[in-house]
Amino acid sequence: GLSEEPLEQGNQPMNATKRIYLDHAATTPLCPEAREAMQNCLGQAEGNASGVYQSAREAKRMLEQARSEVAQLLGALPNEVYFTSGGTESDNWALKGLAARSHPGGHLVTSMIEHPAVLNTCRFLERQGFEITCLQPDRSGRISPEDVRKAIKPSTFLVSVMWANNETGTIEPVSELAQAAHEAGLPFHTDAVQAVGLLPVHFHGCGADMLSLSAHKFYGPKGIGALLIRAGLPIEPLLHGGEQERSLRASTENVIGAVGMAAALKAAVACREAESVRISRLRDTLQSLLCASLLDIVVNAKDAERLPGHLHISIPRVDDQSMIPLLDLNGVEASAGSACTAGSYVESHVMKAIGTPPELLRGSLRLTLGRETSEEDIDLAAERITQTVTSLRGH
Ligand code: PLP
Repeated sequence: GLSEEPLEQGNQPMNATKRIYLDHAATTPLCPEAREAMQNCLGQAEGNASGVYQSAREAKRMLEQARSEVAQLLGALPNEVYFTSGGTESDNWALKGLAARSHPGGHLVTSMIEHPAVLNTCRFLERQGFEITCLQPDRSGRISPEDVRKAIKPSTFLVSVMWANNETGTIEPVSELAQAAHEAGLPFHTDAVQAVGLLPVHFHGCGADMLSLSAHKFYGPKGIGALLIRAGLPIEPLLHGGEQERSLRASTENVIGAVGMAAALKAAVACREAESVRISRLRDTLQSLLCASLLDIVVNAKDAERLPGHLHISIPRVDDQSMIPLLDLNGVEASAGSACTAGSYVESHVMKAIGTPPELLRGSLRLTLGRETSEEDIDLAAERITQTVTSLRGH
């Protein structure tokens, strides 16, 4: 949690009474703007937005206002915004929805560093007979538009590359990648889940034909997101059913979620530039402090364009499976950046793809800063991380 709780006794905590949350890439706390908008909505819009009476009309009005706001804030048209249950659904829909409209055996180009929402969807499509090419990034996690051009063949129906990577924080050259797809007459999808709220995202400006976003990454509620779909792009629904979302995404609309997402996005866009400067400075300070105290750490994607509050390091001679829980005991909430399932350790596909040496694969630490991160937090975090690593190494 994000609360300030005293630590358990017996674990020799290091003055760790203030908990420091450094996992904003995993999720962000609900902002007051979203909370207030949703609370207002609770009393006002409890009708079914598809109904034809007053309470329904009010719900419908709020839903459509949220849609217009999201569209305007992201440089899209309102009828290009389709509300979904989040990033995972949007990614599934973009890929499966276009695969369903392509030929049997159709070919999809993506990257090795996508989120599991994309990669596991690709594995599913492969089992259905589609062909997948996963492009390899360079050492800093960047996907080359030239490699996209080379991978395209006559059977290709879609190119999908994420806007920013959730492990390394690397920002991809989305406009150039979209252009490479368009040169071959192909649509381009981008998973912008980590980018929206932190980077200037303009749907029409970037050239993407589909774009996935998720509210809980920009201080909105969980369980709501959107897929932006360029007007006129033929796509099959993922969820078949009623006529909601212009018959492309059935299920009774989550009006409260949509209203919360729009309010959170508005707040995120309003403070984006100032916050970006502030948290990238704090990130740089944290990076310098850690590099000065732990001389052998490797900063991943150091020379790439990175998300402003994102720091991913590899720590030699430390196992992140023991480090993350010990950091938690010491009041620092962070992650290794990739999915670990209980009992079995899964090495990060992203770290492998960027060519991390085997001896560094198990010592990943992802620190992602956010709106409530203070200068004091950074000093304390650097101190606690250094002490945790030193104690794990036994000297
Ligand atoms: N894509 C990326 C890049 C992500 O970081 C995440 C969240 O972890 C997702 C997709 C999935 O989003 P959601 O949690 O809304 O399903």
